[in-house]
Amino acid sequence: MALLISDKCISCGACLSECPNSAIFEKRSDAEERGYHVGDGQGMDNIVYVITHERCTECVGHFDEPQCAAACPIGNCCIPDPGHPESKEVLLERAERLNPNKTIHHDKVWQGVRG
Ligand code: SF4
Repeated sequence: MALLISDKCISCGACLSECPNSAIFEKRSDAEERGYHVGDGQGMDNIVYVITHERCTECVGHFDEPQCAAACPIGNCCIPDPGHPESKEVLLERAERLNPNKTIHHDKVWQGVRG
């Protein structure tokens, strides 16, 4: 599943440069203007950061854990989005499609991923 950014977000920006898939946007409208869907409830009032599930891979293929959650200074702010459950295979395919010039590591899989 993709991650989402909860309303605990303080818009510090720590996550933005850490995402290997450019899945994080400063505002909901920034993502939507680029044609990306943002899950219900995220980024309300356009004042906190959002993650689009169309680019998030849970960092699968890149790292062993979600880098946004690791960088975030607020606990339980970057969290799994139960509205978008996805398999490891789907996430790896997305990582490869979004990053044709990067090496995608099939052994880099977060334990939170569903089989
Ligand atoms: Fe980006 Fe990884 Fe966070 Fe998804 S989990 S938004 S790919 S940093």
